[in-house]
Amino acid sequence: MEEQKRTEIGSLGEFGLIDRLNKNIEIKNPSTFKGIGDDAAVIESGDHVKVLTTDLLLEGVHFDLSYAPLQHVGFKAVAVNVSDVAAMNAIPTQITVSIALSNRFSVEAVEALYAGINAAAAHYGVDVVGGDTTASRSGLVIGITAIGEGKKETLSYRSGAKVNDIICVTGDLGGALVGLQILEREKQVFMADPNMKPALDGYSYVTGRQLKPDARMDIIHELRELGVVPTSMIDISDGLASELFHISKASDVGVTIYEDKLPIDKQTYDNAVELNMDPITCVLNGGEDYELLFTIDQKDFEKLEKHADVHFIGHVAKPEEGKHLVTKSGTAVALKAQGWKHF
Ligand SMILES: [Mg+2]
Repeated sequence: MEEQKRTEIGSLGEFGLIDRLNKNIEIKNPSTFKGIGDDAAVIESGDHVKVLTTDLLLEGVHFDLSYAPLQHVGFKAVAVNVSDVAAMNAIPTQITVSIALSNRFSVEAVEALYAGINAAAAHYGVDVVGGDTTASRSGLVIGITAIGEGKKETLSYRSGAKVNDIICVTGDLGGALVGLQILEREKQVFMADPNMKPALDGYSYVTGRQLKPDARMDIIHELRELGVVPTSMIDISDGLASELFHISKASDVGVTIYEDKLPIDKQTYDNAVELNMDPITCVLNGGEDYELLFTIDQKDFEKLEKHADVHFIGHVAKPEEGKHLVTKSGTAVALKAQGWKHF
């Protein structure tokens, strides 16, 4: 008897699996301007384009209700989709919300989730226009689809980075991962002794970064006002190094970034050291910060030079130069993308 071949998902990884599943997909409609392969799809609609993105969040995989309040889970579910629209240099306009829940949840609990969803919809100026609600046998599942608007000429793809462009990141990085470690540590303490109160004082910055990230629509609006169109862009959901790999691959370029330019908040740094984590590794490989990574033409540098929340971390190199991190001591080391793996 012939044995059926079995490939473990873990051997492909998330991105390998995506590539394998999508290789037979054919585009049939001329309005499908850009299909799978960026932060969002792009669909032509008159003289504008629509961008479309979807995300699935599962209890126990993407969030843990033992420390994530339902209101925050609802807010974050919207924010991560808005972040993908932002990463296309587009403006989000509508979302649909689908949820599956078990009878473990009360009406009040679902209302708390929706309070977070509605707060995020108000914050980002998007309308909730549909969705589906169904029963689940195990836990809570939230699927959100977001639609946004942009202009064909001013969308930013992963594929547009050019040699000598400047690499920029917004905000600071690594906080969401450090926050997750703190929340997990306190959960273990609590499970060992339910009388122990979680010691979360001094960690509010990093736990906030993990539980309630804010998509950087503010930056998208500011870039428009300044007349800057990023040559490439991606949001940081899997970690800076992993996102740099995506831009490098899609744009066929190398990248050089500098350790001393990487933005890290002081609390993230101190909390990481306390947890025996290397702060730079947290910055490079910590996921879920939902900041923006983008490249700009050198001519646009002056327009952003004084921006308090945009950091210039390196430059785009020739493809044969590869991907490097220049350490504080001046040594160039090959970048590794460990990313944020669910498998
Ligand atoms: Mg993304």
